Amino acid sequence: MTIGRPPTDIWKRIKRQSERTSNGCLVWQGSINSSGYGQIAPPNSKSKILHRVVWQMLFGPIPKGYQLHHTCENKRCWNPDHLELISPSRHKLLHNGDYCPNGHEFTKENTYLHPDGAGKYRECRLCRTAKRRAYRQRIRSTKVSHNVTPQN
Ligand SMILES: [Zn+2]
Ligand SMILES: [Zn+2]
Ligand SMILES: [Zn+2]
Repeated sequence: MTIGRPPTDIWKRIKRQSERTSNGCLVWQGSINSSGYGQIAPPNSKSKILHRVVWQMLFGPIPKGYQLHHTCENKRCWNPDHLELISPSRHKLLHNGDYCPNGHEFTKENTYLHPDGAGKYRECRLCRTAKRRAYRQRIRSTKVSHNVTPQN
């Protein structure tokens, strides 16, 4: 994703006060609100939640009834690639602890922890396997379609 050039001053300030981690998080080093989210006070305005400000600068208003979820689970991160616009019901599912968004239980065996995610970003193994299978199938079908052209 390319980052555009929204209002300059605040944008510069956000970048200056953030640090990039090895898994790509852009972590705000400035002030944090009581829920652990980064906050910023634009000129002549009350403090606002940082990742929401960034999202709105890049993509416009957040549609009514939608919420932003951190796929990296780092509340201070504002990398738009780590933010997902989702419905509150799906959001609840993602945070309910015991089940993946597709309803598989997060047992010890079924939980995959990403090594580069500071041990926090977990994924359902069943969904992960399904995703990989779909990916392999896509590769295979691409190869087949290449083989049938005599010029190859
Ligand atoms: Zn992140
Ligand atoms: Zn969330
Ligand atoms: Zn799953």
